[in-house]
Amino acid sequence: MDFQIPEEAETLRKDVREFAKAELPEDWVAGILEEESRDEDWAFAMSISKKLAQKGWLTMAWPKEYGGGGASHWEQFVYREEAGYWSIPGTGMGIGAIDWVGPCLMLFGNDEQRKKYIPLIASGEPDGVWCTGYSEPNAGSDFANIQTSVVKEGNSYLVNGQKLWTSCAHRARWCWLAVRTDPNAKKKQHGISLLIVDMKSPGITIRPLYNHAGFHSFNEVFFDNVRVPAENLVGDENRGWYYLMQALSFERHTAFPQALGTCRRVFDELASYVKRRIEDGKPLSQDPIVRRRFAEIAVELEVMKVLSYEITWKADQGIIPIYESSRNKAFLDRLLERFSIFGMQIIGAYSQVDLDSRWTKLQGRMQRLYLTFPGLACAGGTSEIQKNIIGQFKLGLPRSY
Ligand SMILES: Cc1cc2nc3c(=O)[nH]c(=O)nc-3n(C[C@H](O)[C@H](O)[C@H](O)COP(=O)(O)OP(=O)(O)OC[C@H]3O[C@@H](n4cnc5c(N)ncnc54)[C@H](O)[C@@H]3O)c2cc1C
Repeated sequence: MDFQIPEEAETLRKDVREFAKAELPEDWVAGILEEESRDEDWAFAMSISKKLAQKGWLTMAWPKEYGGGGASHWEQFVYREEAGYWSIPGTGMGIGAIDWVGPCLMLFGNDEQRKKYIPLIASGEPDGVWCTGYSEPNAGSDFANIQTSVVKEGNSYLVNGQKLWTSCAHRARWCWLAVRTDPNAKKKQHGISLLIVDMKSPGITIRPLYNHAGFHSFNEVFFDNVRVPAENLVGDENRGWYYLMQALSFERHTAFPQALGTCRRVFDELASYVKRRIEDGKPLSQDPIVRRRFAEIAVELEVMKVLSYEITWKADQGIIPIYESSRNKAFLDRLLERFSIFGMQIIGAYSQVDLDSRWTKLQGRMQRLYLTFPGLACAGGTSEIQKNIIGQFKLGLPRSY
C-alpha cells in the first residue's frame, strides 16, 4: 500500500481550504446533518452546493460521461476530509444524492432516469436534493423486513406505509424508496423493489422528529395511496435488495473522510483550548493525565486515517472493499464515543450549557460531537451490524441472523 497522497490531491486540499475561508462566515460552525434543521442554514447550504457544483467539486468523483469530474479516489478523499474539517455545508445534496443515488442510477437506472435525475443532482439546485427511505418502525437492522407496500394500478404504483428516521425528508425533492412488491416471496429479500418518489406527490405526510441535540434532521414519512409512475421503478421489480446492498456499500464507504475531518477539527480546537485554559495556576495541557489521554486519542485518529487511506488506496487500484467499510465504521463509532466523553470531561461544567450560550466553549463543537455520536453509531447500520459483517466476510464465521 502506498501512503503518499498524490500531489494533485494536496493542491486540491489547499483550494478547498481557501474556498472555506472565502465562503464561510468566520464563526461558522455546524454539526453533522445540522444544516438541515434551520431554514436559514439550509438556504446557506444550498447556496454553497451551487458554488461547489460550479467549481466541479460536488460530483467530482463521478465519471465524466455523467457530468462528473472523473477525479481520483484520493482527490475525493481529501475534498471530503477538508469539507468535514471546515464544516462546509451542502456537500451531500440531502441524504445520498451524490454518494449512492447518482452512482446507483448509473449502474441500475435506465437512460431516461439517468438523463432526468443525474444532471439535477450535479446542478447543486434544490430540485436535486434527495432523502433515503429505508427504515421503518419494524425494519432497521432487519432491513429486509420492510412492509411499505405497493400495488400496481394501470401505469402506476400505489404506495402505502410508513418510513422512519428519514433524514432530510423535509428538504428533499425526491425519495429513494425501498418498498415491498412481493409479500409472498419465499425469501423476504426477494420481494423488495426500489422506487423514485416525488416528495411533492399527494398523500405524503412528513412529521418532524427532533434529535436530542434539538435539531430537526430526521422525520417520519407516511405514504397514503401515493401514486408513483411505473417508469420510476429502478431496475427490475423484486430485484431491489441487490441494488440496495450496493447503495449501502457506497454509503458506508463514503462517510469516513468527512467524519475524520470533523474529528480532526474538534481535536485541534480542544488541543488549543487546553493550552489556554489555566487550572491550579498552570495550563491544563501540562496535566499528565490530560496529556496521556490526548496522546491516546491522537493515536486513534491516526489509526482512523490510515484505515481510511487503505480503503482509498484499494478503491484506486480497482479493488472493491467488502468488510473494510464496516471495520472503519465500527472503529469510528468507538473513537467518536471515547473522544466525545474525554472532551466533555476536559470542558467540565461548561459542557452543560446551551450550544448558543455565551459560556459555551469551542463554539459548542465538543457538545455537538457528544450529542451526535450515539446517532452516528446507528446511522448507516449499527456498530453491531458492522461487526456481524466483519465476522461473516472477513473472519468467515457463520451468519448471525
Ligand atoms: C442520525 C441518523 C440518521 C438516519 N437517517 C436515515 C435515513 O435517512 N433513512 C433511513 O432509512 N434510515 C435512517 N436512519 C435509521 C438507521 O438506519 C437505523 O437507526 C439503523 O439501521 C438501526 O435500526 P433501528 O433504529 O431500527 O434499531 P434496531 O435495528 O431495532 O436495533 C436496536 C439494537 O439492536 C441491535 N441489533 C439489531 N439486530 C442485531 C443483530 N442481528 N445482531 C446484533 N445486534 C443487533 C442493534 O445494533 C441496536 O443496538 C438514521 C438513523 C440515525 C441515527
